Amino acid sequence: MIGVHRRGERKPIKSMRYLILSDIHANKTALETALDAAKGRWDRAVCLGDLVGYGPDPNEVIARVQQLEAVTIRGNHDKAIGGVMEGDDFNPIAQFAVQWSREKLTAENQRYLSALPRGPKALDGFTFVHGALHDEDEYVFSPALAVDGLVNAPTPVIFFGHTHLQGGFSFRDDNVMVLHTTPTMGRSSLVLPIESGTTYLLNPGSIGQPRDGDPRAAFAIFDTDSRAVEYWRVPYDIADVQARMVAAGLPEPLILRLTFGR
Ligand code: ZN
Repeated sequence: MIGVHRRGERKPIKSMRYLILSDIHANKTALETALDAAKGRWDRAVCLGDLVGYGPDPNEVIARVQQLEAVTIRGNHDKAIGGVMEGDDFNPIAQFAVQWSREKLTAENQRYLSALPRGPKALDGFTFVHGALHDEDEYVFSPALAVDGLVNAPTPVIFFGHTHLQGGFSFRDDNVMVLHTTPTMGRSSLVLPIESGTTYLLNPGSIGQPRDGDPRAAFAIFDTDSRAVEYWRVPYDIADVQARMVAAGLPEPLILRLTFGR
């Protein structure tokens, strides 16, 4: 009886859970800690760019993202370090980190970065981009900057990075709402249900250099079946990565900011 299911034997539709990573910034300690916390909770990984820049582990982070087989788009630091753009609009400290990373990268990883595709990219009914939908390098900090993307959204759910601020925006009945989605200290995750008729522009936060005042590594998991986004924060061994940054001679402000998540 090929093709006929007997009652009670029908297999449930498999839910697809996407691990959403962004702004890893060559911080392998934060990445490994986040991956440990997310273990067994996702089926496929997505990376919104900025694998490298600022942190001490560019080659290690690229190798790990490749190992995850993450669907990856480029960020502005990937472009600068991969030689796709100059990076002369970067501040002096970021430029120093670009130079340092270029010298440290293997030729193969340099080529990998330069070949990363630009966003936005569509996947399984959602979209992801590094900065903004119309400009991969634009920072979406406020509702005024988010509204354009929300009104013209190609899918109800869009993930973005670049600002290093976990959270995002929702749009319904001509109203843009700011979403506060960071789990409080002592809690590791918070669930945002995706409602039909609402459009979402969601930032998983930064793995390797959070800037929202919470130094914990940030990421998200999107379950396309139950239509929910889990926002995660996990503490990691910041001193461990800072010691490698000191040894590498990376600028002090980059080292210190990890302590404060600023
Ligand atoms: Zn970044």
